[in-house]
Amino acid sequence: MDDTCTFCRIAKGEIPADKVYEDEAVLAFKDINPTAPVHVLVIPKAHIADLSAIDGQVEVAGKLQAIIGKLARQLGIDGGYKVSLNAGRFQEVPHLHYHLQGGW
Ligand code: AMP
Ligand code: ZN
Repeated sequence: MDDTCTFCRIAKGEIPADKVYEDEAVLAFKDINPTAPVHVLVIPKAHIADLSAIDGQVEVAGKLQAIIGKLARQLGIDGGYKVSLNAGRFQEVPHLHYHLQGGW
């Protein structure tokens, strides 16, 4: 947990979010500034800055992707969706997150 991290604070319930999925390790919520008709962010609740900080935590990475697949079906976009992950200068929020986008 990083007190200065927006997504840690969302995971902790300190900042509101429009949640679409939650379990003990993973949270998915609508992007506040969507760039697709359906735009959801999927994050580990534990603070992991980016892919290069995943180290041995490969289980959570697999879990995130499995949940993305289920969410795509639940959100009705499994006929066509994109999953992306930004890093380095393309990453605005330094807490690992996948963008799930579809509905065009
Ligand atoms: P990036 O780090 O560039 O992959 O993207 C960060 C994403 O987080 C952007 O699409 C923002 O619109 C989104 N975002 C930032 N703050 C919030 C928030 N409080 N709730 C929901 N989405 C957010
Ligand atoms: Zn964080």
